[in-house]
Amino acid sequence: MLHVAVVGSGPSGVYSAQSLVQQDRVPVRVDVLDRLPCPYGLVRYGVAPDHEKIKSLQNNLRAVLQDSRVRFLGAVEVGPGGIATGDLLRLYDAVVYCVGAATDRRLGVPGEDLPGSWSATEFVSWYSAHPDARWNGALSAARSAVVIGVGNVAVDVTRILARGADELTGTDIPGAALAALADSQVRDVHMVGRRGPSQAKFTTKELRELGSLADAEVVVDPAELALDPLCADPSSLPGVNRRNVEALRAFAERPPQGRGRRIRLRFFLRPVELLAEGGRVGAVRFERTLPDGQGGVTGSGSYEEIAAQLVLRSVGYRGVPLDGLPFDERGGTVPHTAGRVLREGEPSPGEYVAGWIKRGPTGVIGTNRPCAKETVTSILEDASALVQARNAGQVPGLGDPLDGLRAAGLEPVEWTGWQAIEQAEAALGASLGRGPVKIGEWDALFAAARAQRAMPERSAGPELAS
Ligand code: NAP
Repeated sequence: MLHVAVVGSGPSGVYSAQSLVQQDRVPVRVDVLDRLPCPYGLVRYGVAPDHEKIKSLQNNLRAVLQDSRVRFLGAVEVGPGGIATGDLLRLYDAVVYCVGAATDRRLGVPGEDLPGSWSATEFVSWYSAHPDARWNGALSAARSAVVIGVGNVAVDVTRILARGADELTGTDIPGAALAALADSQVRDVHMVGRRGPSQAKFTTKELRELGSLADAEVVVDPAELALDPLCADPSSLPGVNRRNVEALRAFAERPPQGRGRRIRLRFFLRPVELLAEGGRVGAVRFERTLPDGQGGVTGSGSYEEIAAQLVLRSVGYRGVPLDGLPFDERGGTVPHTAGRVLREGEPSPGEYVAGWIKRGPTGVIGTNRPCAKETVTSILEDASALVQARNAGQVPGLGDPLDGLRAAGLEPVEWTGWQAIEQAEAALGASLGRGPVKIGEWDALFAAARAQRAMPERSAGPELAS
């Protein structure tokens, strides 16, 4: 029996657990640990509340976590303040780190930290009810917002800013966020790319969705499309970029519709400074860029300012080093070969990575499946050596790792605790005349988990999501 800990219960962690229990070469038991008392990682705390179809992936992840060979253990912090990586490895034959990319990339321009300037990840945490969210939800003083970056996260935050609160009532968005959005005075959202339309990182479905909001219209300047030679002839572009260009052209051709909010998609503008007004951000200064013919841009020496009382910097995530694990500062990832953690160039026995901490913050949720599978293939190839090392006494014999976690001072929240949180969220929503509404405070989450009202509901392997 191979005992494996998976650290992180987002898609890469759960897909790793799934790959481990879906094979029959090596009998396994898998504990999926998370520092939060709630599972599902970015599916719960990153996917926008109005993307209900993507959120429903939670059902597939749930089926894996309810498998009889898998155990969810929340409120287990790995690292300082919790259990050290070395101690964790003494409790299991193998540990797979699926900790994602926990922070945002910096812009590195003056004024970046002015009041009113936030990373998109902070905004996402706020509307997702993440218990660590720091944003204060102040939307009533802003009429114009600038979103820097043109990836899918930029599209998400732009859409949430431009969507009426009425359209979000049916989602699990927390009450405070719903109230702040209802009170929002933001009328113009400028989403700005430093390169051209043909190089935007968003996907076409997400882009088109911006054009389907009830009270917002998308504005694209045909002159900015004309600056990009690949917009005139997109035939040589990869499919997604070609379809993006087609969708942008269609937006540019739409006559003004006189809706309440405008989403202004801008290109070839590189942020150079956030400008203060009354001690807060008041505008963003951009340098106009020009295509260099090789997919990049050069500065033109001419500048443009866009007024904004709210700035959301959406320029990508970045991995955070975990105490005791090697880290590649350049890529923000853990060095590895086929998922085996490398220490000084050599695979470190029993230590593995999957997901964004392995390959960087790119790709859609499904990209994590083959990524997890590759790592699990490595674990299975190493399984007999790992078990031999244990039997030879090189690592201590295994009791129930839960005892070891408790001995380390942790009080893991088990599946029944999570089910109790789900019940508390359903009850909160019902009291507001809504469906389940997320709880966003640590104390309230733990109080709900401790109530343990739910009965365990474990199923066997055949019910696993494929
Ligand atoms: P992303 O796709 O890497 O986009 C980052 C954006 O920031 C790019 O437009 C990039 O421009 C820009 N940028 C980077 N540094 C900049 C700088 N210094 N100044 C100005 N602009 C800068 O990252 P993301 O949007 O955070 O998304 C992360 C991943 O999650 C992606 O794979 C995404 O598809 C996925 N995701 C998917 C969904 C969905 O499927 N609905 C939703 C959310 C996230 P350059 O291209 O010029 O570098």
